[in-house]
Amino acid sequence: MNVILLGPPGAGKGTQAKRLVERFGLAHVSTGDILRAAVRDGSKLGREAEGYMDRGELVPDELVVDIIRERIDAPDCRRGFVLDGFPRTVPQAEALEKMLAAAGARIDSVVALDVADEVVVARNTSRRSCPTCGAAYHLVSAPPKTGGLCDRDGTRLVQRPDDQPEQIRRRMAEYRTKTEPLKAYYRGRGRLHELDGSGSPDEVAAQLARIVSG
Ligand code: AMP
Repeated sequence: MNVILLGPPGAGKGTQAKRLVERFGLAHVSTGDILRAAVRDGSKLGREAEGYMDRGELVPDELVVDIIRERIDAPDCRRGFVLDGFPRTVPQAEALEKMLAAAGARIDSVVALDVADEVVVARNTSRRSCPTCGAAYHLVSAPPKTGGLCDRDGTRLVQRPDDQPEQIRRRMAEYRTKTEPLKAYYRGRGRLHELDGSGSPDEVAAQLARIVSG
């Protein structure tokens, strides 16, 4: 089972990807997490991507396509994977299609999580993240157990640099112009499912599970 989660920043892709991983044993592939880890490590990839990410812009297609090529080749992806935050442009989707065809694999479902702009802004503004492990929290609906500290490793939580108001606006604009056209791309291939992402994580997870189980 190979699944793509589409949706604007804050739609709940990361949260729902984790649910699919737990329920169906899929590998979680998040280009955002991989890029943030590269920035933390100060690697060449991280240095190349950091400026784009901090501004709330998409990083160049070549960089993320190379990341994905390597990642979906890993053994844990053979049982199936959920792509969270990739593809984000039509050229990325085309590159993915070629990569999978060469490996005799395919995408089974593409689920677009739809949420209104106000919800997107509110969710991103309230998001806090662990700079050590990348875990995400929401100040109101999913706060950490101990004020301001990561449940997993106790690191003080921070606001992602791209969760500031100006960056949120830019990420939403990037989504509308570059990523949203992917809905038509996958609709045309008969693989798109649209899902209201404004409900609680449990409600969305239940509907998502039904969709991907076919
Ligand atoms: P995310 O955690 O998915 O919101 O991604 C955070 C940031 O990483 C995005 O705003 C982009 O700068 C970059 N990024 C993640 N995935 C991609 C992608 N598929 N294409 C281009 N940039 C990406």
